Amino acid sequence: MAILKVARLGHPVLRQAARALTPAELKSPEVPRLVEDMIETMAEYGGVGLAAPQVHFPLRIFIVRPNPEDDATFRVAINPAITPLGEERGEDWEGCLSIPDLHGRVPRFARVRLEALDAQGKRYEEELEGFPARVCQHEFDHLDGVVFLDRMKDFSTLTFGEEYRRYWSAAEPEKKEG
Ligand code: ZN
Repeated sequence: MAILKVARLGHPVLRQAARALTPAELKSPEVPRLVEDMIETMAEYGGVGLAAPQVHFPLRIFIVRPNPEDDATFRVAINPAITPLGEERGEDWEGCLSIPDLHGRVPRFARVRLEALDAQGKRYEEELEGFPARVCQHEFDHLDGVVFLDRMKDFSTLTFGEEYRRYWSAAEPEKKEG
C-alpha cells in the first residue's frame, strides 16, 4: 500500500472528465490495489472521501467514509451513477483535499440514489440522505472535472480553515474534506 500524491486545484487532471473502467480493467488486480492506496491516502489526509482523479488517475472511481469512526459507512464506487431523489436541496459546509484550507457552503440534493460497482466488481444500489449523500455528490463531481467551488451559489461564504474554525465550526462538528 502507498500514500498517493493529491492533485491540487490547477492540475489539469482535476478538470477533465474521467473515463469508465472497462470490463477487462474491472478484473485486473490493479483496481483493488488502487482502491487500497486511495483508502490509505484518504486516511492519511483525514478526508471523508477521495476520487481517483484527485490522485492522478482519470478513472471513474471514488471512495467515501462519511463517518471516519464508522467503517460501516465506507463505500467504494466504481463506474457510479447518482440520481437525485426529489427536488429538495440543503446547503452545508464543504472542503476538498485538492483545495487545501478553503471551506464554503454548497447546495446539494438532500437525497440521492447511488448505483455503482464495489471493489470486487459487484453491482449495488443504495439510497443516501444528508451528509453521506453530500459526500457522494462531491466525489461524483470530481469524476466530471467539477469541484465544490463550481457548485457554490456565490463566494460570500468562502472561508480559510483558521477563520472557519474560529467563526463557523464551533457549534457543529468540523466538516472533513473530500
Ligand atoms: Zn474534493
